[in-house]
Amino acid sequence: MKTMLQKIWERHEVVPETADTPAVLYVDLHLVHEVTSPQAFSVLREQGMKVRRPDLTLATMDHSTPTRTEQVFGGAPIAIASAAQQIAQLEKNCAEFGVELLNLRSELRGIVHIIGPELGLSQPGKTVVCGDSHTSTHGAFGALAFGIGTTEVGHVLATQCLLQRRPKTFAINVSNRLAAGVSAKDLILAIIGEIGVSGGTGHVLEYRGEAVRALTMEERMTVCNMSIEAGARAGMIAPDDTTFDYLQSRPRAPKGTEWQRRVAEWRALPSDAGARFDREVTLDGERIEPMITYGTHPGMVTPISGHIPATRGDAVFDKALAYMGFQAGEPIRNQPINVVFIGSCTNGRLEDLRAAASLLRGQHIARGVQMLVVPGSQQIKKAAEAEGLDTIFRDAGAEWRESGCSMCIGMNGDNVASGQYSVSTSNRNFEGRQGPGARTLLASPLTAAASAIRGRVTDPRELLNG
Ligand code: SF4
Repeated sequence: MKTMLQKIWERHEVVPETADTPAVLYVDLHLVHEVTSPQAFSVLREQGMKVRRPDLTLATMDHSTPTRTEQVFGGAPIAIASAAQQIAQLEKNCAEFGVELLNLRSELRGIVHIIGPELGLSQPGKTVVCGDSHTSTHGAFGALAFGIGTTEVGHVLATQCLLQRRPKTFAINVSNRLAAGVSAKDLILAIIGEIGVSGGTGHVLEYRGEAVRALTMEERMTVCNMSIEAGARAGMIAPDDTTFDYLQSRPRAPKGTEWQRRVAEWRALPSDAGARFDREVTLDGERIEPMITYGTHPGMVTPISGHIPATRGDAVFDKALAYMGFQAGEPIRNQPINVVFIGSCTNGRLEDLRAAASLLRGQHIARGVQMLVVPGSQQIKKAAEAEGLDTIFRDAGAEWRESGCSMCIGMNGDNVASGQYSVSTSNRNFEGRQGPGARTLLASPLTAAASAIRGRVTDPRELLNG
């Protein structure tokens, strides 16, 4: 009776952990980007070391990359000097150490947590690491995927292994189906609201139940992506036919008899019936509403029809409300907004763009609202353009950009101005995350699009229902 975590862990343990020492864990896939890798490559250079498994390492650039076409393809200089420097350094490091890089102009480039699945590299049973906390996204495939620090990036580059203690297991059961107008983003925000931002600390979350099984792969990635916002080490969903259908045609997924062999192996990965979890919680998926945050961490969240809590009497809550400029007890619905961002590794996939476009078709965003739509990868951009989604966004008054992290983190100059309210489909609403003084409200693509049209926080079901 083993959990999925236990099965994957045991297959990757090079040296088991003891009371005094962590386990040595083998890494199947190491994703690298421009922000957390420079120091690690410098250490390798200083020590005269090579990258142990370049064939299991893939680099892309996303955090600092410009999203303006003229800077990506038109020869215009990258506006932020530090961003340009990081991009140039990654190119140099990858060339020197023989690591494959999807560079700025590669048609396969994109946000690191979007291109792994897109290429078919994120697979069930794998251990996946990256110097970025939202590596938990890849757990949607039944992988053990987690973020690592800069020093650990160096360890993995040099040895393809990591020192790790096995986390505990936490089953999140979601019964029934999500209602119309309620998305995977609402589901994960509701889960974080339920267990809190440190509710998953020391655990790997395994999402289970009818509502989870009914999600598409893109929706499952949205859910696993935000596991880290509940404090968890990682999030996972057991692989099934939905997973295999998504992976089968991907360019770097196994082919032919190897595919058959792997699928047979992957079918044995889900947690055994009766396997014991360290913790367990159950939510009713049918009762979840569109959710939106009102504070400065993702646990400060409410159903969109709800109110900002009346009082909590704690300093963190008071400080958050002062930063956000909200009053305790007031409704979140109808709060005026200035910016809408659709994108990020949480909600920058094709289905997210389709959802937003479904509301924006034939509509125009409210006067004074700036809306930025940033696909998660160049492949997504191409597919969206083939469907005419870019035209819908542009006709509605939104800006359509090249792929990257963009306004999720604002490292490339795509910022929200101080004091402005942004409804964002990204995953973090910390103070200053989208720019100094920016006020971020996290929500789904449907809620973001509805809010852009009305110029205030809007329940998407009002528009969906005509
Ligand atoms: S989109 Fe945001 S959360 Fe995702 S990798 Fe980029 S900066 Fe990190």
